[in-house]
Amino acid sequence: MTSPCIITVAITGSLPRKENNPSVPVTVAEQVEATHQAYEAGASLVHIHVRNDDQTPTSKPERFAEVQAGIMRHCPGMIIQFSTGGRSGVGTERGGMLPLRPDMASLSTGSCNFPSIVYLNPPDLILFLAEEMQKYQVRPEIEAFDLSMLYQAVRLAEEGKIPKPIHIQFVFGIKNAMPAIRQVLEFQVSELKRLMPDATWAAAGIGKHQLEVNQWTLELGGHCRTGLEDNVRFDKTRLAKNNAELVKRVADLCGKYNRHPATCDEARALLHLRPAETTSLPGFGEGVTRQRDGWGSSQPLSNKRSN
Ligand code: MG
Repeated sequence: MTSPCIITVAITGSLPRKENNPSVPVTVAEQVEATHQAYEAGASLVHIHVRNDDQTPTSKPERFAEVQAGIMRHCPGMIIQFSTGGRSGVGTERGGMLPLRPDMASLSTGSCNFPSIVYLNPPDLILFLAEEMQKYQVRPEIEAFDLSMLYQAVRLAEEGKIPKPIHIQFVFGIKNAMPAIRQVLEFQVSELKRLMPDATWAAAGIGKHQLEVNQWTLELGGHCRTGLEDNVRFDKTRLAKNNAELVKRVADLCGKYNRHPATCDEARALLHLRPAETTSLPGFGEGVTRQRDGWGSSQPLSNKRSN
């Protein structure tokens, strides 16, 4: 028996541009196509930042809504996670798309340094975003860029500000934040298990650390994140062809560690998410849901990954 590994694809991010890798998806159509390819390659969760057509980051809810609709149509069951990250908006603007009720949204539970900026998440903003997520039934994925963020997430859950058990993403390899050191990951995982045994976790390595962090995570029983947001290269010698190529590399590695790429249904159950068939229809207010079949008129591009 192999155990499921939820593969997250972080398709775009705020930083990489087409000058860095021409396959970075920027327009809505490019983002939907890139997500579909990654879904076919084994990803069950997509982490989304949106851009303006000139590639600059934005947090416009309209743009998130278009991408969400395209992915719901073409990737049935896939978990949609919006970023509330700090480069695309200021203050509470960062949660402006939460009324669209994606399955999940990222939530950082502290501040730290990034390569050239302070990634600012003051306590009142964290609470605001957490409350908005509760209000719209969006499950947070905690983005932990340093050790303290793990403890703050557990405390928020104990206080009822975010749902239990938490799902947390440990991020490694950002300059000025947590370096990619396996013992650090092992310590974080052991602390998480001690404090909240039923919590789930994933890890991401930035740049050249992506593959090694994927391998540690597969071995330690966590869930993997890959994609062009974190790393535009396949290896030292060349750029990644696209997001799907990076996903396929993780999917292919699963067997070596007695794992398999989670189906969308498995991933939803592991993360305590609502089933795909009752995913909320964006823009229709709280409590309104509709069968996924009722969304749009065209057929999915492919059903290979539906389950
Ligand atoms: Mg992100």
